[in-house]
Amino acid sequence: MHTLSFPHDAHTFGGQLITQLASEQGTPFYAYDSQRITQRITDLRAALPQSIGMHYAIKANPFLPVVRLMAGLVDGVDIASAGELDLALKAGIVPDRISFAGPGKRDSELAQAVAENILINAESAGELLRLATIAQHQGRVARVALRVNPAFELKGSGMRMGGGPRPFGIDEEMIPDLLASWSRFDNHLTFEGLHIFAGSQNLNGEAIAEAQRASYQLALRLAAHTPAPIKTLNLGGGFGIPYFPHESALDLAPIIAALTEIATDAAQRLPHAALHLELGRYLVGEAGIYVTRIIDKKISRGHTYLVTDGGLNHHLAASGNFGQVIRRNYPVAIIHAQDAGNVLSTDGFKRPSLDDGAGDAATRTPTSVVGPLCTPLDLLADNVNLPHAAPGDLFVIFQSGAYGASASPQNFLSHPPVTEVLL
Ligand SMILES: *Cc1c(COP(=O)(O)O)cnc(C)c1O
Repeated sequence: MHTLSFPHDAHTFGGQLITQLASEQGTPFYAYDSQRITQRITDLRAALPQSIGMHYAIKANPFLPVVRLMAGLVDGVDIASAGELDLALKAGIVPDRISFAGPGKRDSELAQAVAENILINAESAGELLRLATIAQHQGRVARVALRVNPAFELKGSGMRMGGGPRPFGIDEEMIPDLLASWSRFDNHLTFEGLHIFAGSQNLNGEAIAEAQRASYQLALRLAAHTPAPIKTLNLGGGFGIPYFPHESALDLAPIIAALTEIATDAAQRLPHAALHLELGRYLVGEAGIYVTRIIDKKISRGHTYLVTDGGLNHHLAASGNFGQVIRRNYPVAIIHAQDAGNVLSTDGFKRPSLDDGAGDAATRTPTSVVGPLCTPLDLLADNVNLPHAAPGDLFVIFQSGAYGASASPQNFLSHPPVTEVLL
């Protein structure tokens, strides 16, 4: 039985009353709980074989205090732009622990990466050529891993990033020839390893384990062609978190079993390789909430609407417009402005030990919660059973620690940017 790790007393977050936080921060705001992030990483590390490292993909939550916290918790970070490189360095992460993936790296970004001596995950043959030229100009040798677009897919991913034609990575079948002609890059590029990332937001532990085994086998096959022993092998990630009532938490057991086998085998067959996972959402997603204040309530032809002071401009994913195929409601709650924590009203999303509202169904009304933007897309909760709420009350969205503020069109409609706080 897998349970969600929501706070049991969800009127508090990070040890503070949400009503109190709202008066201190002003609404809308995101709050992240450092203790939960730390706990998640500690638990995962305890379960993983010791030789499997853990990297954080900064794009999941690039809030500087979060990245600073990560600096002390993970073995490395993955960045996807020069802006994220600046963030990582500002957070005190040493270049040794930074790797740079992403299609469309500009020459200026590659130049900065070479100057900082970070590992560059090359995504195409063209990028390798540009990189070699840039390294030559600088009189430096660039550290390179090849990002591989595997022939297999990670089944059941929210976002597929491998298998078939993709803009990410180099097709696995092209890699032997590319490596055979590596000598043209000698003196400018050092080959350090492989990066295999097959997908994202996956809740099927068996599917992830299968992809990890396939990734490892692929690495072994490619190892026969590499100009130097593989020093770094990034096995990807894709660990998802549950957002919707029909979803349950990822079962790590098959993943741990696969990684244990892989780690043992790699100690013999890839003895120079440091293996690691690269995770974003799984580390931070459950450790964040987005809090808005209700500014209006209206009834339109019998349907109740609550209008809040923040919407898809801050939380695109909760509105269902961040790559979702079907729009579903995130777990949400109303917190009455006057509550000092006695009563919590929720949408009935299954949380352990939390009143799911079954007892007061009569007092609940089908309600839609919308943000302040003049577009029908700005829908935060569609037709959920919510208890009585009035202007001044708070509307909270859980599971909001990843792909929130930085993944939302904050300039759209020119509302103020959202506040973020790490507790
Ligand atoms: C986005 C991304 C991640 C993080 O994905 P999550 O679903 O947040 O874990 C990791 N690696 C790469 C290469 C990515 O593009």
